[in-house]
Amino acid sequence: MNGSHVMLEGVTKHYAGIPAVCDVNLSIERGEFVVLLGPSGSGKTTLLSILGGFVEPTSGRVAIGGNDVTRTPPARRPTSTVFQDYALFPHMNVAGNIAFGLEMQGLGRKERLVRVSDVLAMVGLTGFERRPVGELSGGQRQRVALARAIAVRPEVLLLDEPLGALDLNLRRQMQDELAGLQRSLGTTFVHVTHDQEEGMSIADRIVVLNNGRVEDCGTPDRVYLEPATLFAATFMGETNIVAGRVEEAGDGYLKLSTPLGGIRVRGSAPPGHDVRVSIRPEHVLFEPARDTESLGAVVFTDSVFQGAHYRCRARSVGHDGQELLVYVPVEHGAAIGERAEVHVRRRRIVLLAK
Ligand code: ADP
Ligand code: MG
Repeated sequence: MNGSHVMLEGVTKHYAGIPAVCDVNLSIERGEFVVLLGPSGSGKTTLLSILGGFVEPTSGRVAIGGNDVTRTPPARRPTSTVFQDYALFPHMNVAGNIAFGLEMQGLGRKERLVRVSDVLAMVGLTGFERRPVGELSGGQRQRVALARAIAVRPEVLLLDEPLGALDLNLRRQMQDELAGLQRSLGTTFVHVTHDQEEGMSIADRIVVLNNGRVEDCGTPDRVYLEPATLFAATFMGETNIVAGRVEEAGDGYLKLSTPLGGIRVRGSAPPGHDVRVSIRPEHVLFEPARDTESLGAVVFTDSVFQGAHYRCRARSVGHDGQELLVYVPVEHGAAIGERAEVHVRRRRIVLLAK
């Protein structure tokens, strides 16, 4: 057992023989903000529930702070969970909701009142103690749920799509607040979302889940810029997937033949192998440079202004007419029917493992 705060080893959960989570291995450091990111049904809630002790894994082990907690009930784990639907007690006021867990922990009345007012201040609800939860807005309820979860001073805070019910502006605001709160508390956070922008804006590390398996795991910029798999590449944002065949392999580079012509990429694979690379639309360039590969000539077939850039479809000239999505800088512009030579920095061509 190493010194990681949270450890999952070979964690698998089957429901009636069907895997919801499959052989997940994950180490989380103390004070880390980890985001479990994946589409609906990818196993995020199941994995979080295994961490919280609400679901027992079919096989595998969970350790927190060096202790095996695989069969430890939720109340005896150093975890606290913010559920997707808040799960506040509707018949209690704000203070009652927050103080409930503190009473269970055996805190006296005076300490409870101090703790309640402290956590309400942290979530920006000072003075809300006596408000019935039924009279709060969605954003305020979410803050109460958060206050309730941090009031018990968990070592690990588990959050299941806590911002899912909020409108976009409030969600972006709460993301910033959540990140700030995590930094000031220093608590380990494991946060579930299906929103890749949310994941990127709050996580120290993103774990991309698909069909119960980890597809990729790393810092937001690494997972976005160098996704490990086809799934991670497409789930993290728009991209071009280009098929290629390995023509030559050597010293960490491959020469591929692709519908966009011959390109060199970093990576290794045997000659004759079929592979795929990912090229993000904002990485397509119109000027060559020392470290660029040519993607040949394209003709623009469609262009939509999106504020930060034009989102353009293009078709490669010759070859097999591969489609290319390109974010064209506003200053450059792109007219439908216009022809352009396009390039990409070699390090922005990402060889996908599967
Ligand atoms: P997510 O939170 O990513 O949407 P879940 O962890 O809720 O995914 O679900 C993963 C898979 O496990 C889904 O196919 C879901 O239908 C199944 N599943 C989840 N909970 C149960 C359950 N209690 N009984 C049977 N199947 C379940
Ligand atoms: Mg879920």
